[in-house]
Amino acid sequence: MKILERIFSVIDSFVKERREINDNLLSELLQKTNIRLFPDQAKTLKFLYQSTKKFKIIEAPTGTGKTISYILYALTKEKFDKTVISVSTKLLQNQVVQDLKKFTDDFVILMGRSNYICADKAEFYNIDLSFIPKNIKEKIQVSRYYCRPEYQEKCKFFLEGKCEYFNTIETAKPKKVIIVNHALLPYITNILSLNSPTLLIIDECHLLPFERKEKLLVSEEDLAEPKEPDPKDFNSIRDYNLALEEYFKHREKYEILKKQNIESTGVFPVDRKIDYSLDFYSEVIFVSATVPDLPISPEEVDAFYIEDKRNWSAVTISVKDVNYRDKKYEKELIGLIREVSKRYNKVLVLCTSYQQLELIKANIPECVTSKEMGTFKIVQKMRDGEIKIAAGTDVFWTGIDIPGKKCIIMTKLPFPVPDDDNDDIKGFISGFESMFKKFKQGIGRMLRSSECGGEIIILDNRLVNYKELVFYLSELEKAGAKVVYECKKEEINKNERAKLTVVK
Ligand code: SF4
Repeated sequence: MKILERIFSVIDSFVKERREINDNLLSELLQKTNIRLFPDQAKTLKFLYQSTKKFKIIEAPTGTGKTISYILYALTKEKFDKTVISVSTKLLQNQVVQDLKKFTDDFVILMGRSNYICADKAEFYNIDLSFIPKNIKEKIQVSRYYCRPEYQEKCKFFLEGKCEYFNTIETAKPKKVIIVNHALLPYITNILSLNSPTLLIIDECHLLPFERKEKLLVSEEDLAEPKEPDPKDFNSIRDYNLALEEYFKHREKYEILKKQNIESTGVFPVDRKIDYSLDFYSEVIFVSATVPDLPISPEEVDAFYIEDKRNWSAVTISVKDVNYRDKKYEKELIGLIREVSKRYNKVLVLCTSYQQLELIKANIPECVTSKEMGTFKIVQKMRDGEIKIAAGTDVFWTGIDIPGKKCIIMTKLPFPVPDDDNDDIKGFISGFESMFKKFKQGIGRMLRSSECGGEIIILDNRLVNYKELVFYLSELEKAGAKVVYECKKEEINKNERAKLTVVK
């Protein structure tokens, strides 16, 4: 039987009869687990097999199990030697691993250079690697400027096989699945010298920064053209390397300033374009709950959409009549966290700034924040019942996965800084779009499994000013959620409703 037919028969049996099938790779993989394919997962897998285009899009609501579908595709489709899975954060890298582990151990997580320690630098600075204070880490991280190819040949750690970074790369090379993050993705083909048929899966592709908006702090020193160090001026090659590293960092910033015509000190917004060449890959799968416009011609893409059919009847969404500008806001926020923690064993506070985390920590010491503990650890401890209240910024909105009954508090609408204080809707369309996406992802933290339910409380009465948000909540109401406005909401008429259905 051809692989395609075999896969289809397994999908069919798992979905309809849950009958065991022994004669193919997919069933062997599935037998190692307790996995049963849900209809949406089966349809997704079927789509991937049926599509003949190089680029594929899967747009599906959170919680529909799309990770399992693309993992099964990657592991069973015979034409790929390797699969690169790119996600937006370290937390999501670990979540993909949890699913991958059910089927194979032939995988590796890779992070960007700066996540690894350069033993050579650490020795130079006389730093004990068994205990590295947080503020020192940056000083001794691996950098391509310090670790130039000509220096690698001299580095004793490299020569003795004791370089953590290069050892990880060597371990990764023969692996079937490599899990990277979006920041590392543009460099991965070079780093691993990939040269055989490879599948690329970009999960959370709406967070792929084709263009990254950054804030650049410019000092007097940055404005002066950097001078390349001369090796003759240094006593040791390590001293020279460190000076060279500084020089290249300065040079990179200086070139950006020149390009953007920035000639004074201050803080400036800068757009950085990132080049993701997808030519090398045999196939590319884009996955997200809200796939953005991609720089690919529509003829080259097959798309698959899964409708959000989840039942929201176990969820209440409340919009409080308060916002962060009110005097009573901080008191309300703290009071609310205290009150809901009496009713729920899992309270997630989605914050938009470190100041909010500090405020919550100062008033509710038992709350664990993403500033003091890694999000992956927080998730594990909350799942195990060791943590009751947790507060965090970005990943809490986009990637945290806590099943069961819970209360989610949104401290305010997640507008990107610095547009936050702007009340002129026309003036921050892109800010609004980014907020809307993050807001929906925050709501998506609720239904992670069939046992999920509880409350989502939004401390931002500005929500009623945005018809798209009101409409989105009314759709959830139709799906069973109870939506309570403690502030006056604008009604949306039929014509507006028709327009809003196209808003993603
Ligand atoms: S090979 Fe490079 S990264 Fe590794 S220890 Fe040596 S200098 Fe550092």
